[in-house]
Amino acid sequence: MSVVNFDLITKHANIEPAAIAYLQRSNQEHYANLSVKWGDTVIQADAYAVFHSTARGPAKGGIRMAEDVSLEETRRLAELMTYKCALTRIPFGGGKSGIKINPRTIAPEVRKMLIEQYVRHFGVFLAQGTYVPAPDMNTGPAEMATIYGITQSRESVTGKPVRIGGLQGRDEATGYGVAAIVKNAVNGILDKDVRGVTIAIQGFGNVGKWTARLLHEAGAKIIALSDETGAVYMEQGLPIDDMVNIRLLDEANLPAIDPCDVLTMPVDVFIPAAINGVITADVADKTQAKLIVEAGNDPTTSEGDQILFDRGINVIPDILANAGGVIGSYVEWKQAKSGSIITKTETYHTIESHILGAYESVIKTAKQMGISHRLAAHVIAVNEVVESMRDRGWI
Ligand code: NAD
Repeated sequence: MSVVNFDLITKHANIEPAAIAYLQRSNQEHYANLSVKWGDTVIQADAYAVFHSTARGPAKGGIRMAEDVSLEETRRLAELMTYKCALTRIPFGGGKSGIKINPRTIAPEVRKMLIEQYVRHFGVFLAQGTYVPAPDMNTGPAEMATIYGITQSRESVTGKPVRIGGLQGRDEATGYGVAAIVKNAVNGILDKDVRGVTIAIQGFGNVGKWTARLLHEAGAKIIALSDETGAVYMEQGLPIDDMVNIRLLDEANLPAIDPCDVLTMPVDVFIPAAINGVITADVADKTQAKLIVEAGNDPTTSEGDQILFDRGINVIPDILANAGGVIGSYVEWKQAKSGSIITKTETYHTIESHILGAYESVIKTAKQMGISHRLAAHVIAVNEVVESMRDRGWI
């Protein structure tokens, strides 16, 4: 099922059935069985690479490594990338990869060999420039360095370590964009200053940690955080500066709470920054947040989304809120192509101008059409992709 609702979108945009037929299916879907010999055993993992649309440019999207990866999930995430790039006017299409394995159960050497296998199977697309991968859940600069080590092409992958062609500011790019959106939405929607607003975040990985750090620096109170190992809570605000080097929250010597409570507690802003589908109908019914900013991909089920809309809870959708990562990736790709060196300040500036430009359009469209921010974002993004399909004579 598509991540966008074409029945609703066509009430607000003139989109021909041929365009919908294109967008309802992925452009390409590839499967590989990654097999690695480890001691006396063979470790196997299903791997998918899905390119949803290349109408606006090469398919762009991260590689996720998790036990619950599936073709269906990879498909949805690839589709989200198409619309994220279109909404923020980044000249990429949408893609995604998934490797189905629990990374905590394998040795680091196996992890590296699986990535090498991934490149062996899908490297042709990276070499052609059809698909440009990046980090996603449980992959990061180390895995991107392995990929670059094989392709030997800096523009074939983004999210690399800075010393080998990575971008200054890419590590925090997604969190930087989320923080920029939160500050603007707190001002414009909640009519408050970010100083002193209370925030709960699910996920303390790349996105969750950077979002927490940057909003804490801006004066917000991060009162609750959760990850796959547990959750911590302090009414007066968590000591984020002291938590930067904590890998998993069960290592933190801080007051613990039930991770489920983080999803529904009374806060100004709730930020899901971990897994898909956490804001179910039940969570949407119980949430006491005034604003939800989707830092993770696809965190809200369609039932949950309807309930949030009916309850008048403002949601800033994933394709807008977490676009800082792909904007940073675009800057890194441009740096690789041109051979120039781009500073952190320039990266931040590009993220801010693209993400806040898109934010203004979404707010304005939602107001003019009397629709949710998510639907407004989808209307703008689908329109943009369809226009490029018209430009190319596909429809
Ligand atoms: P990560 O692997 O660095 O961190 C994931 C975090 O989620 C970890 O803290 C992990 O413990 C936590 N987590 C996993 N299962 C959980 C559970 N059941 N309950 C609570 N916490 C759980 O991944 P990331 O890169 O930070 O990505 C997080 C989300 O942001 C994903 O949806 C990803 O697709 C999205 N995203 C990431 C980027 C990026 O640049 N990394 C860009 C855009 C969107």
